[in-house]
Amino acid sequence: MLKPQKYLFMKIIIITTALILISVFNSDAQKIVKKINASVTEKSVESKLGFLASDELRGRDTGSPELDIAARYIAEKYREYGLQIAPNLSNYFQPVQLYRESNAKTAQFVYNDKIAVYKKDIVFLSGDNKSYQGEVAFVNYGLEEDYNGVDVKGKIVMALPGTKEVNSPREYRDLSFEKQKIAQKKGAIGLVELYKSNNRPWKLTVNSLSRDQMRVARKGDGEEMIFLAWLADANGEWEKIAKTTKSEAKVMISGSLSGKVPSKNVIGWVEGKHPEKKKEFLVMTAHYDHIGVTYRGPEEDSIYNGARDNAIGVATLLETAKVIAENRPDYSVVFLALTAEEKGLLGSSWYGSHPIFPLNKTFFNFNTDGGGYNDTTIATVIGLNRTGVTENLKKAVAAFGLGVTDDPVPEQNLFDRSDNVNFAREGVPAITFTCGLTAFDAEIFKYYHQAGDEVESMDISYLTKYTKSFVYAAYLIANSKEKPFWKTGDKYEEVGKKLYGYN
Ligand SMILES: [Zn+2]
Repeated sequence: MLKPQKYLFMKIIIITTALILISVFNSDAQKIVKKINASVTEKSVESKLGFLASDELRGRDTGSPELDIAARYIAEKYREYGLQIAPNLSNYFQPVQLYRESNAKTAQFVYNDKIAVYKKDIVFLSGDNKSYQGEVAFVNYGLEEDYNGVDVKGKIVMALPGTKEVNSPREYRDLSFEKQKIAQKKGAIGLVELYKSNNRPWKLTVNSLSRDQMRVARKGDGEEMIFLAWLADANGEWEKIAKTTKSEAKVMISGSLSGKVPSKNVIGWVEGKHPEKKKEFLVMTAHYDHIGVTYRGPEEDSIYNGARDNAIGVATLLETAKVIAENRPDYSVVFLALTAEEKGLLGSSWYGSHPIFPLNKTFFNFNTDGGGYNDTTIATVIGLNRTGVTENLKKAVAAFGLGVTDDPVPEQNLFDRSDNVNFAREGVPAITFTCGLTAFDAEIFKYYHQAGDEVESMDISYLTKYTKSFVYAAYLIANSKEKPFWKTGDKYEEVGKKLYGYN
């Protein structure tokens, strides 16, 4: 045992050392907060918003030239801040291959002097802009075995939807495309399925099929396919004709805009300064697309500027890049501006299947996205308590006088509705930082996906504090002592363990 005097001396040394350490840590924290305060200003935030959400960018719709202008702007900011170009790329753009499935503007189907009216009686799931003409052959369900002994070369085949076992309209669609391939292989020029569901109204089906849809491109896109249509046949009239007559049907399709849509994610990175930790990556994401222009009448604003959704997210991402590049953290940090979020999280989906930095070396995804805010005293984090970064988030917002709350509407499942989910599904801990949201109330709906979502109606003073909090949170996560992971029991914990080989 130590003598009392010596013990006192030791005690003084320990306390002094602790005080020095605390002041060192404190001054480190103070230093970065000071730098963030100097770098992230109302002007720097507002000018980025002002550009990205301008009328000139016409709502940044995926596939539009204005979205490419936004991508160029982001890339040039990366260059200005000194971000590196990702390995295997020659510039800041990651090409993303999308495909638009567009319905005909007009179409007609005539058979046995009976006319099916487009979008009333008939819809086309695919088909080129041209006319088709051929005898009709009825092929039961249109499955492989239904063609035994039937010659359909040059003919239009008619079939029942689904199969004997499958009679739910939900499952019809995928099966239809399979049947289309079979019919094509057999030499038919088109496939018409006779829709007869009682449990899903035809009108609903028409509406959902009439909308243009975008998806990630697949093998075979752009190759010529036979046309595929659904024809309403609740009382079996068309089926009867197809089974008994031997006349020709005529089909005319025009105005379909199906085709490949080239787009891009914008990616750059900052190498970490720790010799080991720099081999792993924090991926920061924000989508830069929005929903474009919809004409609403001669006196109405038609441009959906998307200032809240998600120009503020991109501005925040860029402010983070600026600070991180000048204050390199331990881990490497990737900045990824994503395309086509509004079309179904397509840019992040593409990245998930074509990662530039290996996903098992990506220890965290910090996403920012949102539709608006109704509380300027807080930031909201979708998934606040689901990973190991909770304390860092609380610390970051507090430094700039804000509070933080978790998802106020878990029943809306927001966690799985933004780009973070395409990282989560691969196992990467991934959360979304968003402006202060306490409920989906009138204040949110006033701007969410509305033409009025413009910079002029935003609180720049709040958004600057909010941006600073985000930047600091990113900095803290990129300097994590221990790599953050999913909380025990989270639905993505297992896939995460598999990804990183934890067990
Ligand atoms: Zn969004």
